[in-house]
Amino acid sequence: MTISTTRRSAAKVDSVPPRAAAAPTEADRDCPLCPRLVDFREAQRAREPSWYNAPVPSFGDANARLLIVGLAPGLQGANRTGRPFTGDYAGDLLYGTLLHYGFAKGRFEARPDDGLTLVDCRISNAVRCVPPQNKPLPAEINQCRAFLGATIAAMPRLRGIVALGRISHDTLLKLLGLRAAAAPFAHGAVHQAGGIKLYDSYHCSRYNTNTRVLTTEMFHAVFARVKADLG
Ligand code: SF4
Repeated sequence: MTISTTRRSAAKVDSVPPRAAAAPTEADRDCPLCPRLVDFREAQRAREPSWYNAPVPSFGDANARLLIVGLAPGLQGANRTGRPFTGDYAGDLLYGTLLHYGFAKGRFEARPDDGLTLVDCRISNAVRCVPPQNKPLPAEINQCRAFLGATIAAMPRLRGIVALGRISHDTLLKLLGLRAAAAPFAHGAVHQAGGIKLYDSYHCSRYNTNTRVLTTEMFHAVFARVKADLG
C-alpha cells in the first residue's frame, strides 16, 4: 500500500493532503482551534512573557528523508525556546542520539541559537501547542493532525518516520492510512506504509528514562535501524 493510495479526502482532518495542495504546514502564532490550549497559551504569555509561548514549528529541512514526531512541546522545553525538544531532558537524549547516528551536526546546547543543524532529518510534533501536564485531549490531537499531515505531504523524499510514543504512533497511523490492528504500537516495531517505514519508539521523556521503560541503548537501537535502512 503506498501513501498515495492511502490518502483520503483533503477535506478530512485525518488525511494526508496532496503534495500540490497549499495546506499550511505550520500554525499561526495565535491559532484559535483548541480553546483549552489557547487559554493555557495566554496564561503562559502573561506569566512568562519572554518565552516562545506559541505553536512550535517543525525543525529541519523539508527535503529530509527522516521525520521524527514527538507528542507536543514541553512547557519549559520547546514552549519556552521555540525549537522542538530544546530546553528539557527529552532533547538531551534525542539530540545526543541524532548526533551519534549522523542525523545532526554541530553542538547541542539546548538553545535554539546553539548552531546545531539536522542532517537528512526533520523534527515535528503531533500537537503543536503545549498542553497542561503534557496531556493533549483527543479533540486537540485530532484538530492539530492537519498540520502534521501537511508537513508529511510537503516532504517529497520522506522514507522513514520515527513515532515517539503511542499518541504519535496513533495519529501517524491515521495519516498514513494504516489500521491499528495491523500496526500495533511496540517499541522497536517497524510498519510499512508504501514507500515509508514507520518506526515505533517509547518517548524519550525523563519519566520513561528514569523508570527504565526506555534506556539509551533501546533508543539507540531504533535509530541504528533507521540508519541502516536509509543508508
Ligand atoms: S494544538 Fe494545533 S490546532 Fe490546536 S491551537 Fe495549537 S496549533 Fe492550533
